[in-house]
Amino acid sequence: MQNAALNLQNPPLEKNAKDLWKECLSLIKENVPFITYNTWFLPIKPFELENSTLKIYVPNNFFIEWIEEHYNTLINKTVSQVLGDSGRLVYVIYEEKETAEEQTKETPSIGNATTAPQIIKRDYETYLNPRYTFENFIKGEGNQLARAAAMAVGDSPGQTSFNPLFIYGGVGLGKTHLIHAIGNKILEKDQNKRVIYISSDAFTVEFVEAIQSNTLNEFSGFYKSMDALIIDDIQFLVGKEKTQDLFFQIFNTLHQSGKQVILSSDKPPKDLRGLNERLISRFSWGLSADIQPPDFETRVAILKNKSEVYGINLSREIVEYIAQNISSNIRELEGCLIKLLANSSLNSKEIDFELVKKTVREVSTNKQVNISVELITKVVCEYFGVEENKLREKNRKKEVVLARQVAMYLSKQLTKSSLKTIGLHFGGRDHSTVIHSQTSIEELALKDPKMKEILDSLKTKIEISVT
Ligand code: ADP
Ligand code: MG
Repeated sequence: MQNAALNLQNPPLEKNAKDLWKECLSLIKENVPFITYNTWFLPIKPFELENSTLKIYVPNNFFIEWIEEHYNTLINKTVSQVLGDSGRLVYVIYEEKETAEEQTKETPSIGNATTAPQIIKRDYETYLNPRYTFENFIKGEGNQLARAAAMAVGDSPGQTSFNPLFIYGGVGLGKTHLIHAIGNKILEKDQNKRVIYISSDAFTVEFVEAIQSNTLNEFSGFYKSMDALIIDDIQFLVGKEKTQDLFFQIFNTLHQSGKQVILSSDKPPKDLRGLNERLISRFSWGLSADIQPPDFETRVAILKNKSEVYGINLSREIVEYIAQNISSNIRELEGCLIKLLANSSLNSKEIDFELVKKTVREVSTNKQVNISVELITKVVCEYFGVEENKLREKNRKKEVVLARQVAMYLSKQLTKSSLKTIGLHFGGRDHSTVIHSQTSIEELALKDPKMKEILDSLKTKIEISVT
């Protein structure tokens, strides 16, 4: 009571989010192995305190899921110890761009947070991933030209001769990263610019929907209103004549009015057989730049950079061993690091050479060999909180249907099992049911970025669980 009266005149210095999180961290540190602490807890930054709710920044969804899955009890215990019984923890996903120091300042600059209030309100979604920037795109011989051109376009969209900018190369080499980085750069320089990222698949789906709902004018008007249009994996337009026609119109309008078009593809324009000749000739108006697989030095640089981001120390020998043995693509390099982290924190093991060798072996041998429909079912059911046998029954409950479809979809993606075999695993369902599940989930993932994120994190979980 006395305190309350005092508060009116002179509010006591409240503990802020930073102090409270620090207290939590010191408790957590005592209870988990060092490597786990470093990997999963240290990257978390305090955001704000609202009553007894402490909001913290985490790098991505995978973090949240990982922590909740493995350390839920510890987290709950810690939070009630520090914040009292009504204490609650809320995760906010942050973008990597800010330095750790900035994040822990008492009034953090939250310009990049997904929940940041000062973020400009748009009447549409840009679908840009703020985590893909030029700052964290490592330069190497294989991507030099593409990177330089992308940076020029990011600086002055529509003003360079690189219009369209056409970036091509094999999987996992950084095309998507680079074209997102362009979009982010454009918005960083001018928030009012209209920029949109879309995969050519999603573009096609939207196009078909626009036809069905008789809103083709709105559809093309929307894309024509952009200052920069970024379309990923344009090779998927091959064979889709109608979509190509409309894209051709949109392209011309944008190009004529000095707006920027940015495209990516798995092959150079001239090899896109089945794509309309007039589109191919348009593509050569600007610049086509390829991305080649990273050389050894670049692979080492990428590994060093990413391991720093993840907060692990790898010796030079280990980095070089990984770089030597995983050479084809950057996504695999990343996958190897994540798996190393996961293996070492799960088993509380230091990252030593033995673990590295084992992990590299797992990443570079075909993972499909080891992933089973059973494992997929287990991980998916855990995620959705559904009992495994429900997937084999004729249960039509919404969450069971979704879990079943996701499990079937992932089984087709991650194993070599035939449709028939997959159907058998799910209570002897017909192969057409499996196909139907596949297409429904694909459509969901195209429309809803959250669904895509869930699928991605499930895939990572499954791949990590394989030993
Ligand atoms: P693509 O679209 O060519 O298949 P992505 O852009 O999806 O490849 O890249 C795969 C992963 O590798 C992404 O996580 C991306 O951030 C990372 N990556 C690719 N190139 C680089 C690079 N030069 N520097 C840092 N990370 C990279
Ligand atoms: Mg891509």
